[in-house]
Amino acid sequence: MMEIKKCKNKKCERSLPKTYKHKYCEKCRNEHVKQIKDLGKAAMAVGVIVVGPAVAAITKGKINIKK
Ligand SMILES: [Zn+2]
Repeated sequence: MMEIKKCKNKKCERSLPKTYKHKYCEKCRNEHVKQIKDLGKAAMAVGVIVVGPAVAAITKGKINIKK
């Protein structure tokens, strides 16, 4: 019996090679990686927003820049 693997993405369901190790096709995997990277960037941005003022507050308290 030939086992036909399909991409687990319901919108895609592209047939995959039998030897293919992943549940999703290359395209869906790439998109997933992109999503994770975007999430990472968003998390980084949030980190900068949250940490930035705190760091500024700390450095202002310690370092006095005289004009
Ligand atoms: Zn797919």
